Amino acid sequence: MAVQQGGLSPGVPRNVGVGRVASRRPFRPDMPVFPLSCVVQHYAWGKMGSNSEVARLLASSDPQARISEDKPYAELWMGSHPRGDAKILDNCISQKTLGQWIAKNQDCLGSKVKDTFNGKLPFLFKVLSVETALSIQAHPNKELAEKLHLQAPQHYPDANHKPEMAIALTSFQGLCGFRPIEEIVTFLTKVPEFRFLIGDNAATQLKKSMNSDSQSVASALQSCFSHLMKSEKKVVVEQLNLLVKRISQQVAAGNNMEDIYGELLLQLHQQYPGDIGCFAIYFLNLLALKPGEAMFLEANVPHAYLKGDCVECMACSDNTVRAGLTPKFIDVPTLCEMLSYIPSKDRLFLPTRSLEDPYLSIYDPPVPDFTVMRMEVPGSITEYKVLAVDSASIVLVVQGRVTASSPTVQTPIPLQRGGVLFIGANESVSLKLAAPDDLLMFRACCLL
Ligand SMILES: [Zn+2]
Repeated sequence: MAVQQGGLSPGVPRNVGVGRVASRRPFRPDMPVFPLSCVVQHYAWGKMGSNSEVARLLASSDPQARISEDKPYAELWMGSHPRGDAKILDNCISQKTLGQWIAKNQDCLGSKVKDTFNGKLPFLFKVLSVETALSIQAHPNKELAEKLHLQAPQHYPDANHKPEMAIALTSFQGLCGFRPIEEIVTFLTKVPEFRFLIGDNAATQLKKSMNSDSQSVASALQSCFSHLMKSEKKVVVEQLNLLVKRISQQVAAGNNMEDIYGELLLQLHQQYPGDIGCFAIYFLNLLALKPGEAMFLEANVPHAYLKGDCVECMACSDNTVRAGLTPKFIDVPTLCEMLSYIPSKDRLFLPTRSLEDPYLSIYDPPVPDFTVMRMEVPGSITEYKVLAVDSASIVLVVQGRVTASSPTVQTPIPLQRGGVLFIGANESVSLKLAAPDDLLMFRACCLL
């Protein structure tokens, strides 16, 4: 009973009904482990109401949360970004938000992280629930981000790069990187509307480049992609309408059009009628991630999330260069100029298995800003230790129920599905699992 009184579900402020118990805890301004209440973003492309994993996590973690079925729940932000700074669910801590707390308790970041990232949490951790496609986009490298920010700060709000990683929670569909040239050449034959927009010269050039060096391939691919993206709007609409009509008629006649992704094309056209981005499916790899599978979007890799739920981790930045499937500002010349024109089929990002912990998979991308860990612990295990690292961490419980304790936490913290825990650098946390639920958690941190 004492445990239940002292701890509280994340999402419920600790002063609700348990003020007496909370005040028993000695005042420790540097208390480095506490639960967070995170910010939901209701962007229009999000899944509606309880169809959204974001909404379901929220409802599970916070019994007081009311989910509106007619509202999109697009993103859950777990971090200290000024547009979505997480609230601290612990009244013994004087700061109200994670950003305020980190500003006062810099050592919790870890010594290397603190110095490398100027006393800021270097990553933003999210859950995304995607109903309609997000824009065709890429993120600049640091050098280009600085340049763009200087030239157009209204569109490029900071000077940082924005590598991203998405790990599927449900089956998750996205476009990522250029397809192998042979596949694009096949679409040029099978989809005459696509070829029309690219033009015969660029299309022939691409076919010829198939047996040449990577430089010639890149230049032919850039020429094709730029021709498409810079097509006159009126012509795009005409060709897209022709293609939609053709696919619809064939489908109505009972013919399978999946060799040119008929269903996906119709779906994107329905979401973004007349949008040039619909044709991007013939240039970019279509990935269907199963739960636990990941894609990593390094600088200059074109991509778009199409549908599904995922956890996402990224460097703290807002810099996105867009070119279609969006009502937002688009910058086609910059996008065509910056992209990595490297065709590749191999776009799954594979985690490594930890040698110390059989339940831990580590997604460690080739950037310093973040690493994501996935912990899948069977319900037969009663106690599990979240290892200390020299970095601040944010942990999300996706499945299962635990009680968290650490040497610096007086009262164990109960966490259930949707619960989010901040862990300061070099703190280890012991979790007691509530049988018989299996536990699935994701942890974002920065391993320098
Ligand atoms: Zn992106």
